[in-house]
Amino acid sequence: MSNTPTVTHSIDTDGIGWITFDDPSSRANVFNPPTQAALRAAITALAAEPVKAVVVLSAKEKIFVAGADLKWLGRIDNARDAATASREGQALFGLLADFKVPVVCAIHGACAGGGYELALACHWRIASNARETVIGLPEVGIGLIPGWGGCARLPRLIGGRGAVEHILKAQLLPAADAHRAGLVDELVPAAELRERARTAALKLANEGKPTRAAVAPADDTLLAEQRKFAATRLRGQTAPIAVLDVIAASVGKSLEHALAIEAAGFGEIAASDVAKNLIHVFFLKDAVKKLTVDAWFEKPAAPVPVEPFKRIGVVGAGVMGSGIAQWCAARGYEVVMGDVKPEFVDRGLGVVRGIFDDATKRGKLSADAAAQGVARVKGTTDYAAFADCDLVVEAIVENVEAKQKLFAALAAVVRPDCVLASNTSALPIEELAATATHPERTIGIHFFNPVSRMPLLELVLSPHTTRGTAERVLAFAKHLGKTPVICRSSPGFLVTRVLFFYLNEACLLWEQGVPSDVIDRAMRDWGWPMGPMRLIDEVGVDVTDFIYGEMRHYFPERFGSATICQRMLAAGLKGRKNGASTGFYTYEGGKEALNPAMRVLSPVSATTLDATAIQQRLNGVMIAETKRVLDEGVLQSADDADFALLMGTGFPAFRGGLMRYAKSAGLV
Ligand code: NAD
Repeated sequence: MSNTPTVTHSIDTDGIGWITFDDPSSRANVFNPPTQAALRAAITALAAEPVKAVVVLSAKEKIFVAGADLKWLGRIDNARDAATASREGQALFGLLADFKVPVVCAIHGACAGGGYELALACHWRIASNARETVIGLPEVGIGLIPGWGGCARLPRLIGGRGAVEHILKAQLLPAADAHRAGLVDELVPAAELRERARTAALKLANEGKPTRAAVAPADDTLLAEQRKFAATRLRGQTAPIAVLDVIAASVGKSLEHALAIEAAGFGEIAASDVAKNLIHVFFLKDAVKKLTVDAWFEKPAAPVPVEPFKRIGVVGAGVMGSGIAQWCAARGYEVVMGDVKPEFVDRGLGVVRGIFDDATKRGKLSADAAAQGVARVKGTTDYAAFADCDLVVEAIVENVEAKQKLFAALAAVVRPDCVLASNTSALPIEELAATATHPERTIGIHFFNPVSRMPLLELVLSPHTTRGTAERVLAFAKHLGKTPVICRSSPGFLVTRVLFFYLNEACLLWEQGVPSDVIDRAMRDWGWPMGPMRLIDEVGVDVTDFIYGEMRHYFPERFGSATICQRMLAAGLKGRKNGASTGFYTYEGGKEALNPAMRVLSPVSATTLDATAIQQRLNGVMIAETKRVLDEGVLQSADDADFALLMGTGFPAFRGGLMRYAKSAGLV
C-alpha cells in the first residue's frame, strides 16, 4: 500500500489551486474514508493560500471519480451510521460549495454517484467529450439514493422534472447527453480539458461565482406520475420511492434543510436489505471481469498464451444464428454465416442488417460503424467456407442427430485448431460432439434470445473440453462484452433447466384451475418483470413444449410435465410471437386480456390460491432444482447460479439472487 495520498493539491503560477484525484493503488478513484480525508486536507490547504480559483480533476485515464467505495458502504449496517456517513460527505462537499473562490470541476472519465455529487458542489462543470466520460447519479440501481447532495442539489440545478427522471433512470449519461440535460456546463475535447478548465477558472476568478436562473421544482403532478411509474415498473424496489419522498419533502426548503432530509432518507435506505442485495448483485457482475477457468482445470506450470479468435463461423441463419453473427460482427470479428438454402441465408443477412439499423436508430452505433459491421458478415451454403474459421458456433435446429451430423461435416472441413461450439439450450455437449474429430476442442456457448440484449452466456464444458479451449472461449465471451458463467455439461445446464421446471410448475397450477392472471400477478408482486404464463406466450408455446419434452427425456423421474402446451398447440395457440395468434392471453390492439379460448382447454373449474402460496410453490421448485444443479457440480457456487438466473431469466435483482434469498428465508 502506497503512502501517497489519493488526492493531492498544487498551486500554479496563475494562482489557480489544482485538486487532483489519483489513487496510486488502483486504476479507479472511489470515495472511502481515506479519500475523503485526503480531499479535506487538500481543500483545507488551499483555503489557507491566496488562490484565485480552484480546479478539481482526475489524473486517471478513464475515471474521474467512480462514486463511493461500495465495499465500505455495504458494511454500514444501521440507519444511524449511514445517515452520519451521508452528513459527513455532504459537509465535505459543502467545503467546496462554500469555498472562498470559484471552484471548477473538470471531468474526464466516469463521474458517477459521489463523483458527480462532488461536481454538483462545484460552481462550474466542464466535461471532456471522450467516450469514457459518462456522468450521473446511478445510485437507485444499487438500491441507494444519492446521499451526498445529489437529491438536494440536482433539482436546484436542472429543475425537479429533469432531476427526478435522471435519478430514477439510474443511468450514466454520455458527456454530450449530460451537457444537453444541464448536468454539466461545457463540453470540450479531451485534449483541451485542462486548458479550458484553467480559462474558466480565471474567468470566474474575475467575474465571481456564476449566478443561475431559477428552475421549477418538482410539482405534485410530476411526483404522482413518477410514484405510479415506480410502483409498477420498479416494483419491490424501495430506493425510487425514497428518492421521491426526499425530493417532495425538500420542495420549498433551504438547501441546508434539504440536505438534512436527504441524509435521513439515505440512512434508512442504505441500511435496508434491498440495498445490501443490490450491492451484492453489483459485486456478482463485477466478479465476471475477473472470471478464469482455474476452478475447472488444473493450473499449468507456466501460463500458456491464449490465441484470440479472429474469424467466426455461424451455422444456422435463424433467430439465434443471425443474432450471434450480428453481435460478433459488431464487436469486430469477421463472420461467415451458413444455412442450407440461399433464401435462408438471405433472410438471416436481412435480420443482421435489421439489428444494425435498429442500433443506429437508437443512437447506439454510428451509420459508418453499422455499415462496416454489416460488411463483416458473409453468407454461404457451403461448409467449405468455414475452412479458415477459428471458431464455428452452430445454431441449427435443436435435434441431436442433426447436430451430430453437422459436427461430423464440420470436422471434415475446419482447421485442426478450430474450436467447434454449440448454441444448444439444453443438449449435453458430449452427445452432440460425439462425431467431432477433436472433442477436446468442442464446447457449448449458450447465447440467449435476443442476443443483442441478453448479456448472459453459459459456457458449457464437456468432459473432453480442454483448458486451452475453455480459455479461448472465455476470452472471446469477454471480448463480446457478454457476462459468462461457466458450467459443466448437463441437460439444460442451469438456466433452461431451472426456468422450465418453474414454467412447468406454473402450468401445473393452471391445470389445477388457478387462472393465468392470478398466477402472473402473484409472481409480479414478488418482483418478476412478468409472470410465467405471460413468459410462455413470449417464449412461444411451441418452444416451451419442445423444451418440456427435452426435460421429460432427461429427468423422467421428476419432470411431471403439464399437458396444456400440447393442447394449446393442437388448438393453434402458439403464443404472442406468432403474429396474430395468441396464448394464455390475447393481445389485440396491444392490450393484454385473458384468452377466452383457454377456458375450453381447462379441465377443471377456476379455483383461487393466495399469492403467497403461489410464490412459495413456484419459488420452491426453482430453489430445489438449483440446489440439485449445485449438488451435481454443474456450477461451482451458489453465487454463479444466482448470477446466471439474474442475467438469464429476469429474476428480480432486489432479491439479491435465488439462493441468497433461499438462504435468508431459511429455505436451504
Ligand atoms: P431457427 O429455427 O430460427 O433457426 C435454425 C436455422 O438452422 C434455420 O434457418 C435452418 O434452416 C438452419 N439449419 C438447420 N439445419 C441446418 C444445417 N444442417 N446446416 C445449416 N443450417 C441448418 O432456430 P433458433 O431459434 O435460432 O435455434 C437454434 C439453436 O439455438 C437451437 O439449438 C436452439 O435450441 C438454440 N437456442 C434457441 C433460443 C431461442 O430462444 N430461439 C435461445 C437459445 C438457444
